[in-house]
Amino acid sequence: MIVDWESCVGCGLCIEVCPLGAISMAPEKKASISDLCVDCNACTKVCPKEAIGIEPTLKEGGVKCQSCPINCTIKVGNTGACQRFVNWNGELVRNVPLQRYEDVKEIVGEDHEEAIRKPLITGIGAGTTYPDTKPAPYIVQSRLKGIDVVTVVTEAPLSYSGIKVKVDTDLHMGNEGAPVLIGKKKVGHLCTEEYGSKILSLGGVNLLTGKDGITVAKLIVDIANRKEVHLKVEDGSELTLQVGKPPIINGEMGRRMRVGCGSASMGLFGRYFLDAADEVIVLDAHLIGQFTEHAAGRELGAKYSGLKLKARKSTPGRYFGEHGRGWGGTPIEDPLDIIDGFEPKIAKPGMTVLITETTAERAAMFRLGKNGKFTPMELTPEAKRAVDMIASNCQPSRVSAVFVGGSGGSARAGVTKIPIKLNQAIHQNRAKLTVGGAPTYILPGGGITFLVDVEKVMVRAFTYVPTPATVVPLEYTMRLKEYLEIGGHKEKIRKLRDVLKEIRLKSYG
Ligand code: SF4
Ligand code: SF4
Ligand code: SF4
Repeated sequence: MIVDWESCVGCGLCIEVCPLGAISMAPEKKASISDLCVDCNACTKVCPKEAIGIEPTLKEGGVKCQSCPINCTIKVGNTGACQRFVNWNGELVRNVPLQRYEDVKEIVGEDHEEAIRKPLITGIGAGTTYPDTKPAPYIVQSRLKGIDVVTVVTEAPLSYSGIKVKVDTDLHMGNEGAPVLIGKKKVGHLCTEEYGSKILSLGGVNLLTGKDGITVAKLIVDIANRKEVHLKVEDGSELTLQVGKPPIINGEMGRRMRVGCGSASMGLFGRYFLDAADEVIVLDAHLIGQFTEHAAGRELGAKYSGLKLKARKSTPGRYFGEHGRGWGGTPIEDPLDIIDGFEPKIAKPGMTVLITETTAERAAMFRLGKNGKFTPMELTPEAKRAVDMIASNCQPSRVSAVFVGGSGGSARAGVTKIPIKLNQAIHQNRAKLTVGGAPTYILPGGGITFLVDVEKVMVRAFTYVPTPATVVPLEYTMRLKEYLEIGGHKEKIRKLRDVLKEIRLKSYG
């Protein structure tokens, strides 16, 4: 590739998307392309000035990769755009050797019992057979506990893919449905909330095939491979996320995941609240709990304190919260703001109130004075015990992710000549789909749309090609009889021991 300096305006967009870091900005503020370039065309797709031209020079010793439609030209010693294939003295080899199931067993953390629940080998390092007219790169057979088993593996480019990121935190991230951005590029949206967690939906076919698709593909793969990523929720927070680590939201590190909503806390810790104060209020963005009015408090014998809360009532002792950057993920900055007043016939001077968050990171205690005002006081030992009880039952705040992929498309051609039969076998549990050895959950209905916990898959197993699509190691395991019945590539079946011998010989590390 070559840059026409007359047209280049030095915007740097090409540098952002080049998967190999082959472009730099010259002192003249013009883009310059190095020898690392493999002609993947990612830069030409984003250049607003059409300043990058194709100069198809087959590089010295270069080999054209045929494993996906990008067709990189890779020089000796270099890798292609997806960084999966290396030109090894004129031969293209996968730079991660094929992994046996035993190699990833610990990461998967699952003990598959039945013969077909465990793949004979994984798809990690298998390579791709493009275009989808050829059998998968490895179709292996072995006999397990008297059963002939076949595993078909490939590293499939998936345009239909995305990632759901679960962030266990009360910290406010933004409004539901708000776009999630990298710079100005939309890469997903803030989805619904699950119990104590915020969910981001990133990628998906429409964003992957949109103008910022390469950024989206890279983001999905980076998250799946447990790299740190930086995102912004439109009109919301700045996020630093890394699977397995606590989230950082607007510079603040999430420490605890809430134990439950304010109402759930009443039932969970009611027996500690009884002695803690005359009233206990648990602030939460979904449901705020008021102990003495709540069914749990009444059942435990608590007497109504007479306090009235400034919130919309759901049922007695349960009030709807709102989202914000204050206590318990609500907009409340001063905990006393939740109190709207009290019934003077019931609430008497000297009564105490404990107010806490559902994570118990912040808690405060107050006493009602003769002047009708609440003044702060030290937490009593009983109140401290209740707060400590909440805190010790909170799990740490962390980021997790589930990769979502649709493998019901052309990738099936490598497995069978009759694709519908593969779908049926998967849905009827006659064939098992794993990703890098990790179990998948198959969405019901048509197609083969799967979910997989990325932490059960080896780091670097997820890659992408700038078509753009993510590339995922897939394994289909079934009885040999089943494989033949669904139209499998019988002629390409190889004995497991022969393949393992070949792996040992070809292990380029
Ligand atoms: S063609 Fe691909 S590898 Fe070459 S400079 Fe452009 S983005 Fe980088
Ligand atoms: S994207 Fe185009 S205009 Fe922008 S720096 Fe690269 S070559 Fe120049
Ligand atoms: S992106 Fe990867 S698979 Fe596709 S042609 Fe380039 S090196 Fe081959």
